[in-house]
Amino acid sequence: TAMQGPTFLGHPRGLFVLFFTELWERFSYYGMRALLIFYLTKHFLFGDEPAYGIYGAYTSLVYVTPVIGGYLADKFLGARRAVLVGGLFIAVGHLMIGLLEGPVGTQGGYLNGFYLGLASIIVGTGFLKANISVLVGQLYPRGDARRDPGFSIFYMGINIGGASGPIICGLLGETVGWSWGFGAAGVGMLLGLVVFVLFRKDLMGVGEPPEPVLLRARTAVGVSREWAIYLGAFAAVAVAWWLLQSQGVVGTLLVVFAASTIGFILYRAVFTLPKVERDRVFGALFLIALCPLFWALFEQAGSSLNVYTDRAVDRSMFGYEIPASLFQSVNSIFIVLMAPVFAALWTFLDRRRLEPSAPFKFGIGLIVIGLGFLVLVFGAALTPGAPTPAMFILLLYFFHTAAELCFSPVGLAAMTRLSVSSMVGLMMGTWFLATAAGNFLAGQIAQATGGENVGPERVLEVYSRIGWVSIVIGVVVLLIAPFVVRLMHLELMKAGDPV
Ligand code: GLN
Repeated sequence: TAMQGPTFLGHPRGLFVLFFTELWERFSYYGMRALLIFYLTKHFLFGDEPAYGIYGAYTSLVYVTPVIGGYLADKFLGARRAVLVGGLFIAVGHLMIGLLEGPVGTQGGYLNGFYLGLASIIVGTGFLKANISVLVGQLYPRGDARRDPGFSIFYMGINIGGASGPIICGLLGETVGWSWGFGAAGVGMLLGLVVFVLFRKDLMGVGEPPEPVLLRARTAVGVSREWAIYLGAFAAVAVAWWLLQSQGVVGTLLVVFAASTIGFILYRAVFTLPKVERDRVFGALFLIALCPLFWALFEQAGSSLNVYTDRAVDRSMFGYEIPASLFQSVNSIFIVLMAPVFAALWTFLDRRRLEPSAPFKFGIGLIVIGLGFLVLVFGAALTPGAPTPAMFILLLYFFHTAAELCFSPVGLAAMTRLSVSSMVGLMMGTWFLATAAGNFLAGQIAQATGGENVGPERVLEVYSRIGWVSIVIGVVVLLIAPFVVRLMHLELMKAGDPV
């Protein structure tokens, strides 16, 4: 098993291979996303509304496909191969967008090529995103206390990519030329793949196909099953290409897809798993159920909070007016600073046998994210009728980051700890599917804060309401946490148990 290999900073070396691969993947994702809305409005000359439509369809579809990628990795490919293939599709997608820049305002074939690039990223992310987190989990034995700190470190890599992508791709794209920004995203993903391939030995053999024979077996289409899957991926690119242009379908697709995925998991759990494993799947589903609420609040950052910062926050500092969009990197910077603190905190508490369980941390996360909104509401009330001091928006992001660290990396770790290995990719994919639902709800909340014609009071009213709702639900989660913990059967996870 994996745990006997060499370590670095007390963690398996493979963690750092995955850290850098995911850093570059997120660099490409967030770097490209920072340019996306401007490319649509300023280059293809779309109006705001259709541009938001395409942006929304893209950002939800990237979190829908990981369920399929996770499932395929569990059953046939293994997580390592899935990450490799996914990275290739992602890199090709970004490079395609970069290379196909036409004259300003020309849509036609250029637009089709652009959609094809987005579709390739959507499919690639489906192969990569859930499975790379699965690989992180497989580096640790089931009861290993280093798993949560390990995911905190991994999460730091995500956010180093998330902070630097927008700066580098954004700057290149908006100043030198769009192609340069998108091209940089593609090159970033290629660098991630180089790391992943060069240091694959450090993964100590985790994430290999469950049954290699099954992968080589011929299928009805005349090629091996492995190649049949890759051919299927090209077909999926065509479907994603179509969906990007039929955005009305995406919401419905999300609901139908989520319902059938949950149904499928429940079916597998109830009919194929022994009691302990079944209970753990129920525990994981409980955590997944809290995802839409958390991300619906958290994802106000890019939309309504961004606009509030722009219109109602005093951003003057040292005689300069700081652009609102710069506040978007505050969360990632806080993560990079605070992730090591949280990793150390979990280890410290664990040594004293005091480490809180995942459901408990989720309850805390929901309370703290709610408090973040209330802090802003409080700060705004101090200067009625005048702009809110910037300190309060920074405080909000501080609370939201602390909440994120109790929620997101903990959730990733819990998915790997609570799933049987034949379902781990599927569960991780479902975690991201719940994120997609959260993003969708976030849009509804942002709309409820009203447009440019209603004052900031309306926004603050909505913030105070969602803040309190989250706190109350968080307290309820704390109260039922002990019962959920029982479903996890932690007592059976001895430190030596393999994943
Ligand atoms: N920011 C994190 C990432 O990109 C979490 C994303 C999410 O689950 N919504 O991986």
